[in-house]
Amino acid sequence: MKAVRVVGYHTKLQLTTIAEPAVRGPLDVVVRIGGAGVCRTDLHILEGQWKEKSGVALPYTIGHENAGWVHAVGDAVTNVAVGDKVILHPLITCGLCRACRSGDDVHCQNSEFPGIDVDGGYAEYLRTTARSVVRIDDSLEPADVAALADAGLTAYHAAAKVARTTVPGEVCVIIGAGGLGHIGIQVLKAISGVTVVVVDRNPAAIALAVDIGADHGIVADGTHVDQVLDLTGGHGAEAVLDFVGEGGATREGIAMLRRAGNYFVVGYGENIDIPTIDVISTEINFIGNLVGSYNDLNELMTLAAQGKVTLHTTKYPLEDFQQALDDLDAGRVRGRAILVP
Ligand SMILES: [Zn+2]
Ligand SMILES: [Zn+2]
Repeated sequence: MKAVRVVGYHTKLQLTTIAEPAVRGPLDVVVRIGGAGVCRTDLHILEGQWKEKSGVALPYTIGHENAGWVHAVGDAVTNVAVGDKVILHPLITCGLCRACRSGDDVHCQNSEFPGIDVDGGYAEYLRTTARSVVRIDDSLEPADVAALADAGLTAYHAAAKVARTTVPGEVCVIIGAGGLGHIGIQVLKAISGVTVVVVDRNPAAIALAVDIGADHGIVADGTHVDQVLDLTGGHGAEAVLDFVGEGGATREGIAMLRRAGNYFVVGYGENIDIPTIDVISTEINFIGNLVGSYNDLNELMTLAAQGKVTLHTTKYPLEDFQQALDDLDAGRVRGRAILVP
């Protein structure tokens, strides 16, 4: 089969022919890839940023945002059958450790991560397991939803925490109206009663955010913290959902947060700098967010099937992987780039 592989760091990916993955264990599922999302993490992998962390042996097949059709199943697989349309939870998890038994797939102690430390989805077929496949509604196409497997799942995981920790009428500020921010807005409007206030430097991104349901869009022009305080009677928002996490976003976000509010960190890069006396005297909380669980992905796919969460995509044939990566790197992709084998 055709596969796009990492052959070295600081080197271009290579399209080669390798053997199709086969079912090895009773719970294995081989998926025919219908769409593989092209992610900024893929660029970071090629820069060598994941080299030590993943310890992956080269060459290997990249691509961690995958959806397609079930092609073959092991003897013990009962939840999907050959031909089913599925989206793949990004991790292959053991099901036996404490985290797995709590439904907390992301913290599995014995996980593999296709596209990061084992073969991924820039290929015609990928091997995963029964625990990682979510059947999707007939109305959805794998290439349209593939990027929900990672980018969408991360936004859902954090936004669903906001929904669980707020009541209708409270305010959530979303910092950053990019790809994840757009999913976050749609999720909050679908499953919570919060007033959604979106802050971004880019006026076009703000216009789109309001278009897809944000209650207020504020262009970050230096007056944005004051504008949020004005909107909230001077108190600030009960929740801040930060998809940026760098360039001073956290300092501004903390200034927009109400006493006893929750600060959800998704985007990252800078240090959070706040005197501890301010943390105790206001009882604010900082909450980290890492991808999402199998159940999160299942819930997100329900919203997708209901038409409540949609993702704009630009599709490329698998052979055009280099174009897709170059377009992503240069900021030319609208929505998410998807490779279609
Ligand atoms: Zn990704
Ligand atoms: Zn586990």
